[in-house]
Amino acid sequence: METSRPPIVTILGHVDHGKTTLLDFIRKSSVALKEHGGITQHIGAYQVEIPEESKSRESEANRGILRQAQDDLVINRKITFIDTPGHAAFEKMRSRGAKVADIAVLVIAADDGIMPQATEAINHIQSAKVPLMIAVNKIDLPELNLKVQLEKIKKQLSDQKILVEEYGGDVPVIPLSAKTGEGVDKLLEMILLVAEMHELKGDPVVDPAGVVIEANLDKFKGPIATLLLRNGTLRKGDQIILGGVKSKIRGMFDFAGRALENAGPSTPVEILGLETVPEVGSVLGEEKLESSDKNQELSLIEKLKQGESKTLKVIIKADKQGSLEAIVASLDKFNTDRRVIDYIFSGTGDIGEENVKLAASVGAIVIGFNVKVAPTAQKMAENEHVLIRTYNIIYELLEDVEEVVNTLLEVGQLEEVLGKGNIIAEFPHGKSERIAGCRIIEGLIAKGQRIRVIREGQLIGETKLKSLRKVKEEIDKVEKGSDCGMLFNPPLDFQIGDIVESFRVI
Ligand code: GDP
Repeated sequence: METSRPPIVTILGHVDHGKTTLLDFIRKSSVALKEHGGITQHIGAYQVEIPEESKSRESEANRGILRQAQDDLVINRKITFIDTPGHAAFEKMRSRGAKVADIAVLVIAADDGIMPQATEAINHIQSAKVPLMIAVNKIDLPELNLKVQLEKIKKQLSDQKILVEEYGGDVPVIPLSAKTGEGVDKLLEMILLVAEMHELKGDPVVDPAGVVIEANLDKFKGPIATLLLRNGTLRKGDQIILGGVKSKIRGMFDFAGRALENAGPSTPVEILGLETVPEVGSVLGEEKLESSDKNQELSLIEKLKQGESKTLKVIIKADKQGSLEAIVASLDKFNTDRRVIDYIFSGTGDIGEENVKLAASVGAIVIGFNVKVAPTAQKMAENEHVLIRTYNIIYELLEDVEEVVNTLLEVGQLEEVLGKGNIIAEFPHGKSERIAGCRIIEGLIAKGQRIRVIREGQLIGETKLKSLRKVKEEIDKVEKGSDCGMLFNPPLDFQIGDIVESFRVI
């Protein structure tokens, strides 16, 4: 039973042209959210309901069309916005064959006109064949000659083969101010109109299909993903396969953090209970697509964890020496405080078997820029589980690497073990607490440090060292070779034979 579903919209544009401001304005003016107290969580997408009073005050003729569209849309005046303005995310989803957005809004600042990232966005949008509309932003700027600037932008667009409505094309241009909100209602109406023209349909009865638009590892909740459902209904408790991994949905929330029992087409949901962190762009409900790309399924982060490496080892291949230098110079910014990226090898030319062999032997990933992967290298990478990523836009490469570096920092992968001890005894303390009698076998352990307890290679838990004693005396630190008594807070279920490690996150 197909019914119309809300359009899914992505907002692209050059940096500082106002994407975030526009998304914020729309989010804040949403009626549904106001009812909820306006609190949103960042889950990478949100849904708004368009208030009736935002009817466009366009010319009579246009109003007629809009009314018509609205009449058809009485029950369906919702729009889903992807809240991760980033060309990289868009491209990543597209490169995995996932169609996510139904409509793309390109934000162009009225004063600046088309800038390089707008051109790049246009290329993405055109190759993804997503209907486009232009928001000319910042019309509130005092010194602006809007008429002149609008003409200039339309001309620039036609140079890029984008034909706006006034030039006989089908791309609407909406002047607006994300700051004052002027014109934003017209944009929303136009989105609904374009959506109506494209007859977006969904079927709540079929198996759920959707795309991961954000995913990360939460310290407390485990792997979390935001899934944008494109079809079907997803229910709490459902067994799903995402990125080739089976999981059961333990919890499902909307963008306002409200728990959901089920979610239908065009709804963004945050899901808990996944076995691993899926790759952005992973597709739910189309497992064939996933398994044909087995090697790439492993997220960069998972890959790193397997290597238990505290640095990201990379092999970089680029088309030209110049690109190579630019990439290394940009990546070096991650190495300023501490060495996070290790360059194992960098060179020009396509990615070959020798690169994969080297990557496999040292646990590196292979990054290619404007180069191809030799089929034999691809095959070898699949067998050896080496991750190869290729890019043709430097900042997408940087965004990916940054994401990995941040995640590593977040999950405490970039850390230094300060001291190690064996638990050799235990003593009761107070009513219910226990003191662990330890012999320090490496380094130094001090009061206040973060502690983790390991049993037969498995992490039992993490806590902090609240009190440290030698015989009866409270001390600040102990070193290798000494015995001591440790009190953990919060308490931890340790056993004699466990290993205690103190560490710090760098
Ligand atoms: P993004 O990089 O595209 O997400 O751009 P932001 O939304 O962060 O906006 C960049 C800057 O432009 C910020 O200082 C905003 O306050 C400002 N800005 C955004 N929209 C408008 C607008 O409509 N009018 C004016 N005057 N400034 C705006």
